[in-house]
Amino acid sequence: MSGPAAPQAEDEEETGTEPAAGSRKPSELELRRLAAELAPMVDVWQRLLDQHLPDRAGRCQTCTKGGTGLPAAPWPCSIHGIADLARQWHDRSA
Ligand SMILES: [Zn+2]
Repeated sequence: MSGPAAPQAEDEEETGTEPAAGSRKPSELELRRLAAELAPMVDVWQRLLDQHLPDRAGRCQTCTKGGTGLPAAPWPCSIHGIADLARQWHDRSA
C-alpha cells in the first residue's frame, strides 16, 4: 500500500481542532475570548468603536503607521472587529 503522498495543505479553519502553535493571526477563538472579556467594559469597546472609524479612503483613522499619522489598516480593522464582537456579546447577554 504505497502511493503518492496525499496533499495535506488544506487550511482547516472551523473544524474545532486546536490552533497550531505559532500561527500568525489570532484565531477566531482568541478573538471571541477577547471580545467576551471586553463585553462588560462598555465604555472601553464604545470608545474603540468611536475611534476606529473609516476615513474617506476606507482605512481606519486610528490604526496609523507608527509616528507618521498615515492610515495603514483597511477598515474594519481588527480592533474594530473585536470591539464590534464585544458589543454583540454584550447585547446578547443584556
Ligand atoms: Zn483601527
